[in-house]
Amino acid sequence: MARDTAPATARPLIDAFGRRISYLRLSVTDRCDLRCVYCMAERTYFLPKSELLTLEELMALCGAFIDRGVTKIRITGGEPLVRRDVMRLFGNLGQRLNGGGLEELTLTTNATQLDRHAQTLFDCGVRRVNVSLDTLDPALFSRLTRGGDLGKTLAGIEAAAQAGLKVKLNAVALKGANEDELPALIEWAHGRGHDVTLIEVMPVGDSGYDRATQFLPLDAVRRRLEARWTLAPLPDRTGGPARYVKVAETGGRIGFITPLTGNFCDGCNRVRVTCTGRLYLCLGRNEKLDLRAALRAGGPQALDTLLDHAMAIKPKGHDFAIAPGAAPAVARNMAHTGG
Ligand code: SAM
Ligand code: SF4
Repeated sequence: MARDTAPATARPLIDAFGRRISYLRLSVTDRCDLRCVYCMAERTYFLPKSELLTLEELMALCGAFIDRGVTKIRITGGEPLVRRDVMRLFGNLGQRLNGGGLEELTLTTNATQLDRHAQTLFDCGVRRVNVSLDTLDPALFSRLTRGGDLGKTLAGIEAAAQAGLKVKLNAVALKGANEDELPALIEWAHGRGHDVTLIEVMPVGDSGYDRATQFLPLDAVRRRLEARWTLAPLPDRTGGPARYVKVAETGGRIGFITPLTGNFCDGCNRVRVTCTGRLYLCLGRNEKLDLRAALRAGGPQALDTLLDHAMAIKPKGHDFAIAPGAAPAVARNMAHTGG
């Protein structure tokens, strides 16, 4: 079970397995300016804007979770920085930091637009960002993101560091694509003070590729890294799925997220809300509740009641499996659920 550092609140969110929910990942849009080959298909249907939660609804939902003891909120997507009014959400949530119940406000981004937002994010109280970066090779970056410009993402990372944001990189390990250059990516990141988390590709949604052909088990990656460096396991568990090691030679940390080869559900402290207000209780399962309908029909009271129901039905864990030709474990992709 994860260490519970959440402060006391009158009515904390505790599920049927005794896990306290202190972390909300909120998707603010399903749209993105990239098309990563493991995430979404090249021709993707995006929701009409009228389907999205309004800014006021996003604020109300976050407020309800904070009032029930959620202390950490990660804004994600899709690409959160393509939503025009997203900085107003950061501004609003920033007011709940420093004694207002929220302890950490953060985001996951592809960094294509981070250079122009980094300082505002810092001013809103954001201190750490996760940036997705799978390769430092411009041609491979363009291929993996279907047309992305590596220079923009690197400029975003640089601007974030300049603004005082701690940057962590997320890299999805992809068979036959970036597997040979993960050490170089890690070395580059550690040289700049950025930790790196490696992620196994998950069978969620249609990306136009069979995930089994992309899947690279991280135990194999780890063995290659161990042949090069001294990896010392770290005890850090934050209720999240990553297991960390410290690299003696670089001084940086590597996280391993292994949904396929290692179960990470026991200490789960999180839930996800989509940009349409659906509350998903597990990334790899289909149990969901319509928070937007509750909010629109019954206001804050109805929302609060639904959160209690959510705790009763949060599943024990996911049952991801990956096999050639098999359908994804869930039909929605990561950009829809909020990765
Ligand atoms: N657009 C932002 C970004 O890329 O950082 C935020 C949303 S993205 C869906 C969040 C994370 O999910 C990224 O780190 C991405 O690499 C990861 N991701 C997307 N699809 C995935 C999949 N099928 N398996 C594993 N990770 C995935
Ligand atoms: Fe966009 Fe992030 Fe998905 Fe890549 S991983 S397509 S950047 S949402």
